Amino acid sequence: MRTSILAAVALLSAGAPIHGARPSSFHVISGSVPADRGPDGNSIFIDAPAGLILVDTGRHPDHAEKLLAYAKDRGRPIAAIVNTHWHLDHTTGNYDIRQAYPAAPVYATTAIEGGLVGFLGRNREQADKILADPKTPPERRAEILRGRSVIDNPDRLRPTIPITASGPMRIAGRKIDIHVAHFAATEADLWLYVPEERLAIAGDLVVDIVPFMDTACPDGWKKALSQIEAMPFVTLIPGHGAPMDKAQFLSWKRAFDVFVDCGRSTRPKAECIAGWKRDAASFIDPAHSEYVTEAADYYIDTRLRSSPEEQQKYCKPLGV
Ligand SMILES: [Zn+2]
Repeated sequence: MRTSILAAVALLSAGAPIHGARPSSFHVISGSVPADRGPDGNSIFIDAPAGLILVDTGRHPDHAEKLLAYAKDRGRPIAAIVNTHWHLDHTTGNYDIRQAYPAAPVYATTAIEGGLVGFLGRNREQADKILADPKTPPERRAEILRGRSVIDNPDRLRPTIPITASGPMRIAGRKIDIHVAHFAATEADLWLYVPEERLAIAGDLVVDIVPFMDTACPDGWKKALSQIEAMPFVTLIPGHGAPMDKAQFLSWKRAFDVFVDCGRSTRPKAECIAGWKRDAASFIDPAHSEYVTEAADYYIDTRLRSSPEEQQKYCKPLGV
């Protein structure tokens, strides 16, 4: 009897696919979207033979500290960084992580080059204006200086291993399916699929409260969401917000499609904003209600209902 129990345990630990028997090989460090400072994106650790793969590194020093503390706790090195996209709430922490783990390569697309030409250049000008204002509080000043220092040292954001095409890759010794989504939330986003976990890591192709459309090409984004839908995932980690199951993702995707279509129609703007808040209600906590209204309004004006040239701005290459 004892022998057969031991044999069964040995089988389980050898990877028998009995639900709940195997500890998961990924761990999420949640970001946040506070009203008074820039957001941090979610970060995800994936166990790999050579150490931990870290997907996205956040913006603020306290987020980077949480990431370093997790690796230390686990007693495993951060062996590789993957950036889903170049937005600073997902990449600023690359610097902190590589200070501690200088050998960790950075996997990302080269879309940062186009970001530096336009969006981040304008960001820097704005930063200078805010810093010149004596009324800017010290915490805000520190945040802006940190953002400006990465823009001024873009090697802190650039990939050491550029990814140009979708396909399976071995990262830190673990096979990960990498997908490149062209002209979506940025000029080229990455999303990941980890088959053994049936896990999709979506970056900002999925953001719970409102899609962050600052550098978006809505048609490419819709296409990317359809490609994610085609995967047999059971858990999806969005760029911001709690993990979703497939049904939740499908409901978010429907809300996204309706919002984009409404934003591009001639229907009253208030109707589109109310529509998003209704369709995505289960993803919007009351504390972010006002934030969501303002963001949705801003994205309709700047992306969905702007001039034809402006609407197409992020649907073509920006780099030099
Ligand atoms: Zn983000």
